[in-house]
Amino acid sequence: MAIRTIVQDGDPILKKKCRPVTEFNEKLGQLLDDMGETMIAANGLGLAGPQVGMLKRCFVVLDQYLDEDDNEVDEILEFVNPEILETSGKLTIFEGCLSFPGRNGAISRPQYVKVRAQDRYGEWFELEAEDILARAICHENDHLDGVTIMDHAKVFYEDLTPEQIKRLNLDEDYE
Ligand SMILES: [Zn+2]
Repeated sequence: MAIRTIVQDGDPILKKKCRPVTEFNEKLGQLLDDMGETMIAANGLGLAGPQVGMLKRCFVVLDQYLDEDDNEVDEILEFVNPEILETSGKLTIFEGCLSFPGRNGAISRPQYVKVRAQDRYGEWFELEAEDILARAICHENDHLDGVTIMDHAKVFYEDLTPEQIKRLNLDEDYE
């Protein structure tokens, strides 16, 4: 495993469309291992292929939950050639991106998603997600089509005055 360099704002690769993954080999496993490690090291909730310079349709997200004994579990979920099958609900909150440090954009995302993807061995699976995990999946999936928070954000937190932040009601102001 190795930590890879995260592509930053201004790199044209972030605007490119990724190609489907066709080879499910050791190299893909290595890439996904590295992406998971890089995401954790950067304290991120997700990381997509283009963010480590690979125009491949794959991403990782961090699923954080409590197990039966109320222990916090951090699980890295891997998605290869993902497709969003269903969405519902809508919530507008600020979200960041490891490629745009210091920028938090107010973005409307579905509250629920159903996604279909392949794992690192090429096996298809379906997953339903809500709230933060649904948001992370949508965010990372956008990266695969060259879409980032810079395209979606209705306003950036950093551009607001303290007075505006106090009065902010994202779901009403930016629907
Ligand atoms: Zn991102």
